Order: sequence, then structure tokens, then C-alpha cells
Amino acid sequence: MIKTPGVYINGVWELGRQPLTVINPSNEQPLAEVAGGDGAAVARATLAARAAFAEWSKTCASERAVVLRTIAEGVEASRERLVFLQASNNGKPLAEAHIDVDDVIATFRYYAELADQLDAGQDCPVALPSEDFVARLRREPCGVVGLIVPWNFPMVTTAWKLAPALAAGCCVVLKPSEVTPLAELELANVIAQAGLPAGVFNLVCGAGVDVGAALAADPRIAKVSFTGSNAVGVQVMQRAAETVKGVSLELGGKSSLLVLEAANLDLAVELACLGGFFNAGQMCSATSRVLVAEALYPDFVARLKCRAEAIRVGDPFTGESEMGALVNQAQYRRVQQHIAAGLEAGARLLCGGARPSTLSSGYYISPTVFTDVPLDSALWCEEIFGPVLCVRPVADEAQAVALANDSEFGLVASVVSSDLIAAERVANALEAGLVWINAPQVIFPQTAWGGYKQSSIGRELGPWGLSAFQEIKHVLRAV
Ligand code: NAD
Repeated sequence: MIKTPGVYINGVWELGRQPLTVINPSNEQPLAEVAGGDGAAVARATLAARAAFAEWSKTCASERAVVLRTIAEGVEASRERLVFLQASNNGKPLAEAHIDVDDVIATFRYYAELADQLDAGQDCPVALPSEDFVARLRREPCGVVGLIVPWNFPMVTTAWKLAPALAAGCCVVLKPSEVTPLAELELANVIAQAGLPAGVFNLVCGAGVDVGAALAADPRIAKVSFTGSNAVGVQVMQRAAETVKGVSLELGGKSSLLVLEAANLDLAVELACLGGFFNAGQMCSATSRVLVAEALYPDFVARLKCRAEAIRVGDPFTGESEMGALVNQAQYRRVQQHIAAGLEAGARLLCGGARPSTLSSGYYISPTVFTDVPLDSALWCEEIFGPVLCVRPVADEAQAVALANDSEFGLVASVVSSDLIAAERVANALEAGLVWINAPQVIFPQTAWGGYKQSSIGRELGPWGLSAFQEIKHVLRAV
């Protein structure tokens, strides 16, 4: 059993007063005891961050780039430990846990590059329509920021916020998910060795209603960057409104994979499985609606059933498992309830729907595919956050686009077609922040992450992820 402090303030690890028990979802056994913090710890962390901001915000961005690169190297050096923790705490197969580590390294390296360009771009002149005045533009760090992250890609989500915040010159209080804090605690150890001044990076593990709510309310925090559920996102926004602090929100999704008439069926089936079952479907970007051109539908459904049933589900450490467990009992039950409600609503279960008979414990659910799903059912409309796909035939491109856009969310979409003109046309018509064509859900730090409608406020990654942590200042002087 791992026993660890869960609070890091002003460069010092502390035993917080709120113990958290972390469970291994693959065997349902306790994995770690974390001495998490409370609202009082958040107050001390923001004070420390505020004090450190005076110096850190004035450093050359190129100095900050050096720290970011050191963190990237530290993550690479700690790869095996981070993979172990992700696989144990999230139930992710080893190959998926490695992808998370790769993503973290790429993100810190990318924001190191952007930080390197910041100094040269600072104080750039602004063209004015009058010779009587001159103006210059500065981009300055917005202050102390609160970062609140969920459990599905814990370390990756943290990196997407932390790397740009540090690059911008902000000081940080990070709150990992109480369900999966272990990878971030290890990441904090890496950061502690990377040469950051004390107080620039602080971490408080703990419950959302306590630690998260305190972060959203703290008047010393300039901005909260939150990833999680819509229900909690609304609460964060309401609390933040009391002190008029900025919020970035990355919330839920109900995304579609569109298989157009000219699709390669093998590719379409592979992408449907990746979009629905990667990370056991616990992805805000899961393409849980699969819309298939009528002519291809019978063949597609038969092949999808075969492929989904062949996916090896089980222990993340065997190296053979393609899909692991759901993160905890609450999520396991939630997904089971969705499956039961889908059956009650009249949807037809093509495969899966329960724990594989070969596994006696662990929060596993076999890859699950439904057809004939009513358009007004929860299965079709709500985010499931588990390995569940709903497949439906569509008469034409227009109907596919209409069904994909018929959602309160608009995070991502995928299109499969060998007719690239049609694929690009459909991509343009979709209400989504990122559309993949004939590709798995690859994410580069250079492209933005976030969506339309109730999926997001703002964008992460790319230069947009950096500007989310910057204020714009113009200095204008009479000549
Ligand atoms: P969640 O909303 O329950 O929790 C997210 C974080 O908020 C956790 O750290 C939690 O402790 C904290 N929290 C809980 N109550 C709080 C409160 N009152 N005030 C402040 N913070 C509070 O979400 P989850 O169950 O951890 O993650 C799953 C959800 O996250 C899904 O809905 C999914 O769509 C969403 N998500 C979105 C993205 C994206 O990029 N759009 C990425 C990953 C996950």
C-alpha cells in the first residue's frame, strides 16, 4: 500500500488533514492512502503562490522555458513509475499509459518553445492611425491560477493546463481528482526537482466540494481552469462569478463518427473501436454515436460486432490487454445503469453489456454496441463515459451531419471516407472543435482542444492555451 502526503505548498510536502483512500479498479483493492488537504490548505497555497508571483512573473520567459524542458526530461526519466501509477490507479493498459506520458512530455516541450518566443514578441509596436501617439503591446501573466482536473486522463489534463500557465509566468495551485491523484503526486515530485522557486507550483489533493470549491471561490486566484463534468463546471462558474474571476471550462461531449458511403470499412471499424473503447470509453471525446451510410450498414455492423468481441479486456499489466477497467465503482454502476436504461428504452444490444465472464472482479465492462437506439433516449443523448457505442444507419450526408449536430455538446467528430472532397465538406459542416478525417484521435499540442456549445468555454493547447493564462496590456504614449 502506497502512503503519501497529498499537499505541496511553498516547496514543502505536508500531511494534510483529510485522508483519501485510492482504489485499484482492476482488483477493487485499496492502492494508496493520501493525506489530502482541505479549504485551509488551499488558502495557504494561494498565499504562497501570490508571494511567489512577484518574482516569477518578472522572469524572462526563456528562463521559464528551461524549467519546462527540465520537467519534460524529468517526466521521461520517471516514465516507468508514471506508467505504473497510471495503470494501477486508472486501470489503463500499459500501452495507453505510455501514450499519456508521451503526451505530457510533448506538451511541456511545446510550451517551452512558445515561452522561448515570448520575450522577442514582448512590447511589439502597434500601428496607430495618428502620428501623435505610439503604443506597444505586452502579454503578462494573469496571476495565481487554480487548476482543477478530472480522473480520466489525469496527468495529461494537468500538463495541458500547467505547462502553459508556467510558460505564461503564472503561479499555480493544482487540485488533482480525488479518484486518481497518484500520477500527479509523482509529477509534482518531478516538478519539485526542476528548479522552480518555492511557491510557484502548489498542489492540494482532496475532495471537490472542499478543495475544488475553495479554489473557485478564493479571491486571490485570478483564474480557474477546470476540466470535468458539466454539473460541476456550472458550480465552478457560479463560485468564480462572485469574485469576477476568469474561467476556462472543458466539459462533456456526445460526439459522432460518420462513416460516409465511400468509406474503407476496415478503417471505419477500427476507428469506431478506438473512438468508443480507448481508455474504456472514458473520454470526453468518445465518438459514441456511429452514423453509417445505409449501403454499408449491414456489413459494418457485422464487422464491428466481430472486432468488438475480439478486444482483449483485462489486467492492464499483462501487456496483452487492449482495454482495462473503468475507474471506480461509481463509474462502473453509472455505465451499467445507462446500459439497463437503454435496453428498457428499446435499444438492441449487439454485443457486450456486462463484465466479461472470464473476470471475477474489477470494474470491467466488455465493449458494448447498441443498434436501434431511440433518438430521445438517454443512451443516444447523454454522455455515457464508458465503452458503449450506438450505431445507426443514415440515408445521406445531410442526415448524418444533422444527427451529429443534434446535441447540446460539440466537442469533436470523426469522418471516414475515401472521397476526401466529401469528407472535408462534412468536416466543415460539423459543430465540433476538432474533426479527424480517416485518422484516430491523435492530439498534437499545436492544435486546439475544446468545443462548441456546452462542451467548453475557451480552448486549451496551441497558442490559445497560452493566451488563456495571459492578460493583454497596451501602453500608449503621446509623442
Ligand atoms: P467531475 O466534474 O466530477 O470532477 C472534476 C474535478 O472537479 C475533480 O477534481 C473534482 O474533485 C472537482 N470538483 C468536484 N466538485 C467540485 C466543486 N463543487 N467545485 C470545484 N471542483 C469540484 O468530473 P470527473 O467525474 O472527474 O470527470 C468526468 C467528466 O469530465 C466527464 O463529464 C467528462 O466529459 C469531463 N471531461 C472533459 C474533458 C474535456 O476536455 N472536455 C476532458 C476530460 C473529462
